[in-house]
Amino acid sequence: MGEKDEPTPVRHIASVVTVVDADGRETHKPFSWDFLPPAKDACQICAHRHPPTEPHNAQTFYYQVAFHSQIGRAPTWADAMAHCNDETREMWEKELRSMGHWTEPPAGERPVKHHGVEDVNTAKPIEDAFRNAINDD
Ligand SMILES: [Zn+2]
Repeated sequence: MGEKDEPTPVRHIASVVTVVDADGRETHKPFSWDFLPPAKDACQICAHRHPPTEPHNAQTFYYQVAFHSQIGRAPTWADAMAHCNDETREMWEKELRSMGHWTEPPAGERPVKHHGVEDVNTAKPIEDAFRNAINDD
């Protein structure tokens, strides 16, 4: 919900599209999805409202689709909490394992923190804005 003259903010999520021609030859081309960003007071990574130090919600539609577009696989709980400190990660992993819900990347792959957002200039402002938003209350 933007202000009256404010353009609708759109986030471009980078991905790859595979085109198969009549001979069955595959060509991979860069591609991007236009997403409406999460609400301003929600986490900009997973669109769920949670403290920045807690895991992302690995089950939100936004996180699932944005993550899959960029990484090429579904996010796991290990990805969702890769940004947390050891204590938080251990607590959540133990709890999720006890309920049979623990998921992690395929063998040999490391968990992905913020599906590519954290290492560009946008990451810090997004995290700061998120922190400010939840500290307003
Ligand atoms: Zn999140």
